[in-house]
Amino acid sequence: MSERLSQGLLPILIVDDDVEITKAVARDLRRNAQIVACNHPTEALKKLGEQEFSVVISDLKMPVMTGLDLLEKSLTLQPQCQRILLTAFIDLAHLPDTINRAQINSIMTKPWEPDDLRAIVEKAQRINELERENRELRRMALVDSLTGVSNNRYFWERLDSEFSRARRYGRPLSLIMCDIDNFKKFNDEHGHLYGDKVLHKVAQNLELGKRGADTVARYGGEEFAIILPEVTRPKAIEIANRHLQSVLQSTTISLSLGVATFPDDATSTTELVDKADRALIKAKNSGKGRVLSALDL
Ligand code: GH3
Ligand code: MG
Ligand code: MG
Repeated sequence: MSERLSQGLLPILIVDDDVEITKAVARDLRRNAQIVACNHPTEALKKLGEQEFSVVISDLKMPVMTGLDLLEKSLTLQPQCQRILLTAFIDLAHLPDTINRAQINSIMTKPWEPDDLRAIVEKAQRINELERENRELRRMALVDSLTGVSNNRYFWERLDSEFSRARRYGRPLSLIMCDIDNFKKFNDEHGHLYGDKVLHKVAQNLELGKRGADTVARYGGEEFAIILPEVTRPKAIEIANRHLQSVLQSTTISLSLGVATFPDDATSTTELVDKADRALIKAKNSGKGRVLSALDL
């Protein structure tokens, strides 16, 4: 894996209400990574909320909550952190349930052989690193490197899933297509490098102005698309106008925007994009720097 993707070794979290155990585990693993030891599960949960770990090793029987409950909670807090149960009590009858519920990677019994513990932890560390690298690769595959917003591939993935959802539950879904006005002229006057900076600024402006559920993507060139789940046409027109005002206030360029909504304007994703695009072209042809919707076609 490339140097750029390697994010370095993360610390290991050890949780046991017996101080002697956490000390012994920390001693056996001191060469593997930085060790954070907790003697209470609530303290461990707090740590899991504060910093990222590669592996969490937990005792089973502890006050307040069991190691299983703790590992199950760690799964929500840090899904890619590997989970090891270190226990003297293994009830074979409940073993599958134990492993499945908290998605435990390994179970170690007390007392343990230091070499065995190290081998298991090293394997968990490798899996954690691979998962983090995969996550980063997936992020890189779906983000536009110039502007930092989602790319065209992610746009279609997301539009497909939001469209299916909207159709299944009979909910509205709007789409805004935007295109920077006179950008060729802007590049010609200021140079492409400055043009790139402005493109980045516009993208970030759209991104910062969006609601949590919306997706801002670079559709291509100097064109952006915004997916608005649960938004009706009048509301989408209002949101598009707000984005336009915000870009006008923070940059020297303007945008033309087209809005289309499911189910009013389209029965498929491609039709939704086509209608928003046609409204955008009409906005261009009727003077630029404005918002039009499929209703104006
Ligand atoms: P209109 O108002 O009709 O949209 O005019 P326009 O000049 O913006 O549109 P046109 O389609 O004629 O040209 C698009 C311009 O956008 C030309 C191209 O150089 C510029 N552009 C596209 N992608 C990038 C980019 O990544 N960086 C920079 N700097 N410019 C880009
Ligand atoms: Mg343009
Ligand atoms: Mg264009």
